[in-house]
Amino acid sequence: MHEFKYSGNHLYCEKVKVEDLAKKYGTPLYVYSYHTILGHFLKLKAAFSAIEPLICYSVKANSNLAVLRSLVDKGAGLDIVSGGELFRAIRAGCPAKGIVYASVGKTDDEIEEAIRRGILFFNVESIAELENISRIARGLKKTTRVAIRINPDVEPKTHKYITTGKLTNKFGVDFATARQILLARGGFPGVDIAGLHLHIGSQITEPAPFLAAIKRAADFISEMKSKGIGLQYLNIGGGLGIVYDKEAPQTAQNFARRVLPILRKTGLKVILEPGRFIVGNAGILVSKVLYVKATAKKKFAIVDAGMNDLIRPSLYGAYHNILPLTDSGRRMTTKYDIVGPICESGDFLAKDRLMPEVREGDYLAVMSAGAYGFSMASNYNSRRRAREVMVVKDRVFTIRKRETNQDLVRNEEVPAFLSGI
Ligand code: PLP
Repeated sequence: MHEFKYSGNHLYCEKVKVEDLAKKYGTPLYVYSYHTILGHFLKLKAAFSAIEPLICYSVKANSNLAVLRSLVDKGAGLDIVSGGELFRAIRAGCPAKGIVYASVGKTDDEIEEAIRRGILFFNVESIAELENISRIARGLKKTTRVAIRINPDVEPKTHKYITTGKLTNKFGVDFATARQILLARGGFPGVDIAGLHLHIGSQITEPAPFLAAIKRAADFISEMKSKGIGLQYLNIGGGLGIVYDKEAPQTAQNFARRVLPILRKTGLKVILEPGRFIVGNAGILVSKVLYVKATAKKKFAIVDAGMNDLIRPSLYGAYHNILPLTDSGRRMTTKYDIVGPICESGDFLAKDRLMPEVREGDYLAVMSAGAYGFSMASNYNSRRRAREVMVVKDRVFTIRKRETNQDLVRNEEVPAFLSGI
């Protein structure tokens, strides 16, 4: 499932000993396996080969140019949510016709740039946005393609912060609104309403929510067809879950087997927007234990990676497996809170985690940190963001340098009226 494995007592990424990377490049350090990224993409592609969908990797999961390029090289399109992601997508060499653009809050500038570039389509999230896109396209004397993002009101059974397909969420429009839009489509002269989009949430481990959402969309598509309104695209979004702990998520094959019959019936060109499924298990965050500290109630392993490097545990209470880079054969005897150096009690990577005894200077790998890891990293506490490296068999490439102190203040200015520094 991924290419991080122990050989002897050492954790390897493909053919490279991770401890060598930690020593050479310092920590915190993100390490990605190129072949794991490709492996996941190709698995999904193979599972859906019967309908040859366009697989638009979701840039937000991990937006490093090298990751994007690795996938675009193999024929992936990209799913974006901002002008910045559009810039990255183009920089990574993605053809505009492979780019789909969601987000509830696209600005005029972002919309204009995407139209000028000629992206495949916008995933539109409200009537107001549709009117705006139509107006901007008309101003540019163009017609741009859009898909209506449907909020199908299904429960994806995931964390509430990554649930997006319930009517209490801000995303998409309900079926009644979509019907109203399609019946009045002549009123939006700058746009060609060419499809529907669904994305009901992330880290979904069961097929049922996907099936319910796609089924409802398929019924709606045939209803529209019976009214003479033909569509070309059905974008089923991302959301496929991965293994962090004891989950047993569906495989690409199982997922495809369940949804293919409904997708086929629609006769539409299918688009997928996987993020986590492709990069989640393809990256780890390596950190070093700075201190071990005991209070009357707890034992803390204080490491040099914090919530600014990986916010998922703090934000969602997410579980990440944590492994020593060198398996010293020590028994799992002690429970630790594995915490970062940041001045927040919410700064932790794991709580009450049973571990082999942890000592100062040990290296730890936070597993499955490839998705929503670096892409959600910040400079909080004026911490420099980590280096990222990509391993390709026995070769190692730096795909992002560690930030410098100068990077931290690059865009800041002290007004002239303050005395000089
Ligand atoms: N598509 C859209 C519109 C999203 O908002 C997201 C994630 O939030 C994704 C795709 C990717 O989701 P995942 O990483 O769970 O596959």
